[in-house]
Amino acid sequence: MNGALETDNLPKVRGEYKFSEPLKGYTWLNVGGPADVMFFPVDEDDLRDFLQQKDKNIPIFILGGGSNLLVRDGGIGGVVIKLKNTSFTQCRIENDMLYCGAGCINFNLKKIVAENGLGGLEFLCSIPGTVGGAVRGNAGCFGSDMSRVVSQVRVISVDGKVRTLKNADCGFAYRHSNFGNDDIILEVGLQFTSQDKNEVAKIIEQNAEYRRTHQPQGIKTAGSTFKNPEGFAAWKLIKEAGGDTMVCGGAKMSAQHCNFLHNEGDSASDIEKLCDSIVAAVKQKSGVTLEREVKIIGRE
Ligand SMILES: Cc1cc2nc3c(=O)[nH]c(=O)nc-3n(C[C@H](O)[C@H](O)[C@H](O)COP(=O)(O)OP(=O)(O)OC[C@H]3O[C@@H](n4cnc5c(N)ncnc54)[C@H](O)[C@@H]3O)c2cc1C
Repeated sequence: MNGALETDNLPKVRGEYKFSEPLKGYTWLNVGGPADVMFFPVDEDDLRDFLQQKDKNIPIFILGGGSNLLVRDGGIGGVVIKLKNTSFTQCRIENDMLYCGAGCINFNLKKIVAENGLGGLEFLCSIPGTVGGAVRGNAGCFGSDMSRVVSQVRVISVDGKVRTLKNADCGFAYRHSNFGNDDIILEVGLQFTSQDKNEVAKIIEQNAEYRRTHQPQGIKTAGSTFKNPEGFAAWKLIKEAGGDTMVCGGAKMSAQHCNFLHNEGDSASDIEKLCDSIVAAVKQKSGVTLEREVKIIGRE
């Protein structure tokens, strides 16, 4: 794609375009340069029309809650799509399924899950980000993950074709699914077990309390920075290698949980350098190669 993106070389849409939109405010780590363009579709038809009519050379990136992302300082080229309009954030219960728009914030599920006794979905209510992001990364905690509750996923691909996938088609593994950058998750059907409302509310509160007491609060972070390698705890490997005391500019690891990044600066590059230094130190100390859980995207 040559030249700056402007309204003239983008499809006419009903939603909103924002140009050179700074992305730091959209991510939990609070760093990152601008998106060439941000697009907030009004609804699924608007999104589909955009995908079908846009120049095929314009790359797209789908941004969820930005809770698992390190956006580089050069920002993101092409169009960053954010499903924040209400048509992407609605939820409804049908029989034993909770259907959630992919843009729905997981924390906002607390009410519907507790008030209707939707057992098995309590864990999701405590994970930052959106339902779409949770499916994409098979997010999990408290002994469960999305692979255990997802029944079906409706996806639109970059050519505008919509398909519905069953759980077995999603390729779920530890913090992984088969969805690629050209797949935009639109809606997710989550299977629940009807349970006592008070019990469900109690589990949601216990999970929240656990996080309040065991995980850093109120810091700029993206949660667990590295995946737990088979048979190891990432935080332990980091501590043993001295990664818990490494600092790079305003980036360090949390004193409370040394697999959580703690960003006090304004540089994605510093955070990336810290991650690289920790990977090297752990490799040298224990021979284990840490794999990042946080996704790094964008231009240097
Ligand atoms: C304090 C804290 C605690 C955390 N605790 C946990 C935890 O316990 N367990 C856990 O698993 N994670 C945890 N995380 C990480 C993070 O919350 C999850 O990975 C979350 O599911 C990311 O969702 P998101 O919407 O923010 O996605 P983003 O960070 O915006 O994006 C992540 C990826 O998902 C893709 N994506 C987002 N939306 C869609 C969509 N609609 N369609 C297709 N792809 C999409 C993006 O393109 C990107 O590749 C934590 C993070 C923080 C900050």
